[in-house]
Amino acid sequence: MKTGIVGAGLAGLTCAWYLKKNGINDITIFESSEKAGGKLKTDRFDGFQLDRGFQVLLPAYPETKKVLDYVNLQLQRFHKGSLIYKNGKQIPFYGPGNGFTALLKTVVNGPGSLIDKLILLKLKFTLSRLSIEDIFNRKKTISSLEYLKELGFSERMIKDFWIPFYQGVFLENTLETDSRMLRFTFKMFAEAGAALPKEGMGAIPMQLVDYIGADKIRYNTKVLKCDSKSVTKSDGKQESFDKVVLACNMNKNVEYHSVTNNYYEAEKLPIDTKHVILNANPNRIINNVVMISNVAPNYSQNGKHLISVSANGIHTKADVFMEDLKSIFGLEAANWKLVKSYTIREALPAINFEKKYKPTSSEGVFYCGDYLLQGSINGAMESGRRSAEEIIKGI
Ligand SMILES: Cc1cc2nc3c(=O)[nH]c(=O)nc-3n(C[C@H](O)[C@H](O)[C@H](O)COP(=O)(O)OP(=O)(O)OC[C@H]3O[C@@H](n4cnc5c(N)ncnc54)[C@H](O)[C@@H]3O)c2cc1C
Repeated sequence: MKTGIVGAGLAGLTCAWYLKKNGINDITIFESSEKAGGKLKTDRFDGFQLDRGFQVLLPAYPETKKVLDYVNLQLQRFHKGSLIYKNGKQIPFYGPGNGFTALLKTVVNGPGSLIDKLILLKLKFTLSRLSIEDIFNRKKTISSLEYLKELGFSERMIKDFWIPFYQGVFLENTLETDSRMLRFTFKMFAEAGAALPKEGMGAIPMQLVDYIGADKIRYNTKVLKCDSKSVTKSDGKQESFDKVVLACNMNKNVEYHSVTNNYYEAEKLPIDTKHVILNANPNRIINNVVMISNVAPNYSQNGKHLISVSANGIHTKADVFMEDLKSIFGLEAANWKLVKSYTIREALPAINFEKKYKPTSSEGVFYCGDYLLQGSINGAMESGRRSAEEIIKGI
């Protein structure tokens, strides 16, 4: 059976992975860019490894567990929890596994009150007992912010931890994202934390390509349109298939959150940590800072430290970042050198969870992609798997 897939992002690659696993080998993947991976790519630049936009793998994701070989990815783990900076002070918020002293520091000096910490423990316990289906089948739609208020968290806890943390996860500043996404990701963070592959996030799609076969992908080949039996490329030529999968978003009506990610090199680290640093200062621009070569040493191969700094929205002036960095780390930040800046307009799709995702359209085209299900590695891979399963079911 001849299958054409449009898009070599995670959704398209995962679809191809499952097809091959089930004995379907006649696959052609059309990719408009020069590289596979879509939003998940790693550049090598000046002795650094730079992901195109800071992102992390949550090893507890059910879809990545099914497909990826974590041992081969040599996952480099973040320490659980975060380190919050506010008004010149550090607020520790260390998760389990950081030792007794760290736990004590969190209880005594962490964000929010003791009641907040008890609510948090209860939330963690509740989510650990819920399945992912239970989480996504929740009927009532409320925003993440409303949900946190409903759980009883204090305003201080929401301002000092939840908003700074989830600004960086949802790439939007008001936590309007559906609360199902907060519950899902929080469960994932709590189960197995966050990690980076040794060779960068781009190693994830590369592992899929290795299995599928690089010869199945046609790079620099843009598809203009497709139907259930054919694909029309930008050179006007048409190719015929038994099944066609559209694994990219040709729908201009989808709203996206954007982000700017600046990488800096430093001779000396301002703080030796493997935690994500959250900026809880009022009137902030940047969300989070990560001593990325501390977490994953391979990100720097030139003896310098690599620091990742992210801010929601598009920022083309590096000075804006520097003001915030100085307010967190002091004048020392002024010595950091900007390595590269990535501005990503279409980073995470804003999803309407009320619309139920269907892998097939009425015209017989198979659809997948994060924008249809969830803006995450897990969502992209789930949609790819489900398209493949529909194809296999129909044989
Ligand atoms: C900055 C950033 C941070 C993120 N952080 C996280 C995180 O921490 N954790 C997490 O789980 N997820 C995160 N995500 C989300 C995750 O990376 C994406 O959800 C996922 O990679 C999307 O995969 P996809 O295959 O659906 O889409 P895409 O990656 O967009 O793939 C679509 C592919 O189709 C190709 N294409 C498009 N149009 C055509 C055409 N006409 N013809 C041929 N090819 C075409 C594109 O070039 C692309 O390769 C983040 C994303 C970004 C951008």
